[in-house]
Amino acid sequence: MSHLRIMITGGAGFLGSHLCERLLDAGHDVLCVDNFYTSTRRNILHLVDHPNFELMRHDVTFPLYVEVDQIYNLACPASPIHYQRDPVQTTKTSVHGAINMLGLAKRTGARILQASTSEVYGDPTVHPQQEGYWGNVNPIGPRSCYDEGKRCAETLFFDYHRQHGMPIKVARIFNTYGPRMLPDDGRVVSNFIVQALEGEDITVFGDGSQTRSFCYVDDLVEGLIRLMNSDEAVTGPINLGNPGEFSISELAEKVVAQVGKDSKVVYKPLPVDDPMQRCPDISQAKDVLSWEPTVALDEGLAKTIEYFRTHL
Ligand code: NAD
Ligand code: UDP
Repeated sequence: MSHLRIMITGGAGFLGSHLCERLLDAGHDVLCVDNFYTSTRRNILHLVDHPNFELMRHDVTFPLYVEVDQIYNLACPASPIHYQRDPVQTTKTSVHGAINMLGLAKRTGARILQASTSEVYGDPTVHPQQEGYWGNVNPIGPRSCYDEGKRCAETLFFDYHRQHGMPIKVARIFNTYGPRMLPDDGRVVSNFIVQALEGEDITVFGDGSQTRSFCYVDDLVEGLIRLMNSDEAVTGPINLGNPGEFSISELAEKVVAQVGKDSKVVYKPLPVDDPMQRCPDISQAKDVLSWEPTVALDEGLAKTIEYFRTHL
């Protein structure tokens, strides 16, 4: 890969900050664009003095004029409590944000990658989920601002591709975890780890039999970079996630065992439209990107617990 000017929207967030780091390490210029809606400068503080790093406070729902070669469009609140706080803004960020960033890509000729999500499959009736599955999404529920916003963003990406012949890449990211998740953003891995470290009760929603597949952040970032630099004919959508599937109860047990304190599990009501099962079919990512996760859940949890131990 030659030296490129790469823009990452949402670059100060959990995934974005790891991506900034990786791309700087590879010798590129990185422009991190973020309005700090669900993040702070803390995630990227260690990068601000890097000569190839530039930070711009900007909301992607407004147009942006910069010159870049590649765009990773990650800007969007990702955890249910954050994306439901201002649902109209969430849809605007996905939809207007996609239009603005696609417009920028069209003008500059940049390659553009969309951070889509397994939520486009909704509460899936097909298991594991393949990219050809159209999903089972409630269009009017509390998760819809996120799910339908992301689905519409995918539509926009494919219409810009068909209408204007632009190079696009769409990644459907499954639950990802690791250092720099916010301790209070409500996602299950960070919640359980923080609760266990503080000796609090572990809050399992529902009966804990719903499943998720958890991908460690380093694996995910590697997948995103491979997708961005894949053959121009590769557009996706392509699933990126760890196919290891665990119930939420199993996750709670693992976290409690690793932290080694005396937390007990308490059961809380299952949120509306909470998907019952989720597991990626990653055959496409294996075939097309030669990518698959390398970090098992126990190992990734250990690293994440270590991070929270030192940062709480
Ligand atoms: P995050 O909340 O840590 O990061 C999102 C970033 O986007 C934050 O820094 C936030 O301030 C910024 N942002 C939000 N609205 C913005 C706006 N209007 N303009 C500019 N910046 C804005 O979340 P994350 O986990 O790092 O997720 C990054 C992307 O990956 C999101 O698009 C998310 O939907 C997608 N994704 C993440 C996961 C996961 O498990 N982490 C799973 C599927 C998809
Ligand atoms: N969950 C839980 N306890 C918590 C937080 C989440 O049992 O303290 C459950 C939640 O109901 C869901 C799963 O964990 O079934 C994953 O939740 P998360 O918000 O991390 O991601 P998503 O639902 O978007 O996959």
